[in-house]
Amino acid sequence: LVELDRRHLVHPVSSFHGHEARGVRVLRSARGATVTDSEGRELIDGFAGLWCVNAGYGHESVIEAAATQMRDLPYATGYFDLGAEAPIRLAAELAERAPGDLDHVYFCLGGSDAVDSSIRFIRYYWHARGQPERDQFISVAQGYHGSTSAGAGLTALPVFHEGFGVPYDWQHKIPSHYAYRNPVGPDDAAIISASVAALRARAEEIGPERVAAFYVEPIQGSGGVLVPPKGWIKAMRDACTELGILFVADEVITAFGRTGPLFACEYEGIVPDLMTVAKGLTSGYVPMGAVLMSEHVYQTIAEGAGPRAVGHGFTYSAHPVSAAVALEVLKLYEGGLLDNGRRQGARLQQGLAALADHPLVGDVRGRGMLAAVELVTDKEKKTPLPAALDAATRLFDRAWEQGLILRSFAQGVLGYAPPLCCTDAEIDRIVERTRKVLDLTLE
Ligand code: PMP
Repeated sequence: LVELDRRHLVHPVSSFHGHEARGVRVLRSARGATVTDSEGRELIDGFAGLWCVNAGYGHESVIEAAATQMRDLPYATGYFDLGAEAPIRLAAELAERAPGDLDHVYFCLGGSDAVDSSIRFIRYYWHARGQPERDQFISVAQGYHGSTSAGAGLTALPVFHEGFGVPYDWQHKIPSHYAYRNPVGPDDAAIISASVAALRARAEEIGPERVAAFYVEPIQGSGGVLVPPKGWIKAMRDACTELGILFVADEVITAFGRTGPLFACEYEGIVPDLMTVAKGLTSGYVPMGAVLMSEHVYQTIAEGAGPRAVGHGFTYSAHPVSAAVALEVLKLYEGGLLDNGRRQGARLQQGLAALADHPLVGDVRGRGMLAAVELVTDKEKKTPLPAALDAATRLFDRAWEQGLILRSFAQGVLGYAPPLCCTDAEIDRIVERTRKVLDLTLE
C-alpha cells in the first residue's frame, strides 16, 4: 500500500513529495474515538478525522440508516422537481433548529462547495436587487473557507493561493481577532473596536456600494483555533447590518456540537443572513454540506428568477443516502451526544489549561470540544517554535508515537477536536499524552 500510494495517490493539502519520504500511514478500522492502523496499533483520534466525526466511529444505527436508504433508493436527483423523503425531512429538521429564519436549505457535497454555492447565491441576490456591481467580498485574515476556486479566494492562508494563479481580486481581508498576537493587545474591547473599524474602513476603500458580503467563522479553525472575544461576532453582525452587506457564518467546523450548542452562532444569539455547514452534519460517514438561507435572501432570489430556473446544482445535491445518515446523526446528537460533548468539552478545556505551566506553552484557547495549544520557546517574548521543532510533521509524529492523533499547524499550534462521544478517561489521556509530546519536544 505504501508503495502504491507513493506512485499513484495525490493527497489533499500535502507536500507532493513529503509523504513519499515518510510513507503513508494506513488506517484500518475505528470505533468510538479510537482508530486502529494497519499494524493493529490503537490511537485516540483527538481530531475527529478532520474535525468531522463528531458523533464518533462505528454507530450501528447510522450504518443501518445508510444501508436501508441504499437498498430502498440509493439516488434521486433534485432536478426536474423530483425529490426523496430523507433530504426533505432533513431540510425541515435543520430549518427548525437553525437560528432565526434560516429556513431554506440547499444541500451540497461538503464545505467548500457550500461556500462556493453561497457566493453564487449572494451574487444572484444582488443581481435580483438591481445591484450587480456588489461583487466584492470581505473575510478575515487567517480564515479558511474551502479549497474550490471561489472559496479559496475567501480563504486567507497563503498556501491555498500561492502558485494557483486564480484571480482573487474580488476578495478582501481584515486582520484577525487573534488575541495572543494582536497588535492592539489582548484587551477584548480594543480587539472588537479594531475589527469593526477595519471592516468599515475596508468597505469604504472598496466603495460601500460594491461590497456583497462579509464571511466569518464563529471560531477560526484552520488558522489555529482562534476564538474571538465575547461580543465580537455580534459587533461584526451589527456592523454588516449598518453597512447594508450580507453576513455569512461559515459553521463548517463549529456546527453540530463542536463548541457546545448545535450551532456556534447561538453563543451570542446572532442570526446570519446565510450559514454554511458540513462535516458534523453527517459526522464524516458520508459527504454532505449545506447552505442555509434566511427568508429575505431566499425570497429575493426567488423573485429575481421569476419563472426561470436558478442555474446552480450538482448531480449529488441533496443525496438521499447522505440525508438519511444526517437524520440519524441528528438523533444521536440530541439523544445525549451534545450533552456529553458539553461535559467533555469543559474537561478538555480544563485539562489543557493546566498545561499552561509547561515551558513550551504560550497560549491555550478554545471552546467546548475545539481547542489549541500554541507552543513558544520564550513565553515573555512569545517566540514561535523554531522551524526545526515546529516542523508540523514532527509534532504530529510525536503525538502518533504516544497513541494520539492531533493536528499540528505549521505555526507550532496543536489543534484538538475530539469526537463528542469521548469518555472522561479518553479526554484525560489526550491531555496526558500531549504533556508527553511537549516534554519530548523540549528535550
Ligand atoms: N469552511 C471551513 C470553516 C472549513 O473549516 C472547511 C474545511 N476544513 C471548509 C469550509 C471546507 O470544507 P470541505 O473540506 O468539506 O470542502
